[in-house]
Amino acid sequence: MADFQRLIMEWYRLNKRELPWRTTVDPYFIWLSEIILQQTRVAQGLEYYLKFTNNYPTVFDLASASETDVLNDWQGLGYYSRARNLHATAKIIAFDLKGRFPDSFDQIKSLKGVGDYTAAAISSFAFDLPYSVVDGNVYRVLSRFLDIDLPIDSSIGKKYFAKIAQEFLPINDFAIYNQSIMEFGALQCVPINPPCDICVLTNLCLARLNKTIALRPVKTKKVKVRNRFFHFMIFKDNDKIILVKRIQKDIWQHLFHFPLIETEFETGIDVMCSIFQDDFGLKPYDFSSKITHILSHQKINAVFYFFDTLPPNLSNDFIVTKTTAIQDFPLPRLIDRFLENNDI
Ligand code: SF4
Repeated sequence: MADFQRLIMEWYRLNKRELPWRTTVDPYFIWLSEIILQQTRVAQGLEYYLKFTNNYPTVFDLASASETDVLNDWQGLGYYSRARNLHATAKIIAFDLKGRFPDSFDQIKSLKGVGDYTAAAISSFAFDLPYSVVDGNVYRVLSRFLDIDLPIDSSIGKKYFAKIAQEFLPINDFAIYNQSIMEFGALQCVPINPPCDICVLTNLCLARLNKTIALRPVKTKKVKVRNRFFHFMIFKDNDKIILVKRIQKDIWQHLFHFPLIETEFETGIDVMCSIFQDDFGLKPYDFSSKITHILSHQKINAVFYFFDTLPPNLSNDFIVTKTTAIQDFPLPRLIDRFLENNDI
């Protein structure tokens, strides 16, 4: 165990990427980086981290911003619940806790959007507390180094890896050790074809010895993907266009998009045209081909229908805005992608 710790910490010193959240112990910046980096690649996360630290240099700035501004700045990063939690938590820290960031693992974990991994990361990186991080990289490194065949997505596997990870923590330098094992998994012990012949652990790694590298870590469950069918209606009259705010507890909550009808199954254009006729008394003059948008557990199948007028009866949910102002609203990535490729 001591060799493992020493070797990966030495490797980290020589190979780590220079990233701005690694040069600070300010819990606000570390928390920002950790929320941004959840489900996000480092290169993309870096861009958003710089934007957020520039636009909101203190927790008070973030807490005082409007939700629309925060969602706008988050646009393109996906998983918008993270941005809403970020904003809600900033308000609690700024106003209820008077700007003092919680400094114990349990208090940090009680913040919205913070689970075991993020609480351990903030506790160790900001306060150098002895909590081991367990993310996808750590699962991979430990499962290969020890050749563990317990599934990482089973409750028994999760408990086992959490225990092992905690046992592997050195007696000091918790922050550096946690950064080292994660970076080692991200750059050296990569998912496919890791370069084991140049690995500092090559003589100690049990999966290498047992030729099971490609089988580690073990996962049991397949992610079930839900197919959804969205029909967006672009009602446009000269420079006026209609948007709606998505308020229901679902994907894209609090974001804006064109009025939408969701159908349970793939629905043909003729059927949709008769629905539009019944609901709005209008027929589209054109429609897009199907656009597929993949989320973590959902596949969105979207078709956009073009109308050259606004509906005679405007629903209360409809927001009439200028076509030039669409980008001022926080939009789901799917809508953003559509606008990049279509002149509205
Ligand atoms: S020897 Fe290969 S599988 Fe083992 S820790 Fe190193 S890179 Fe990962």
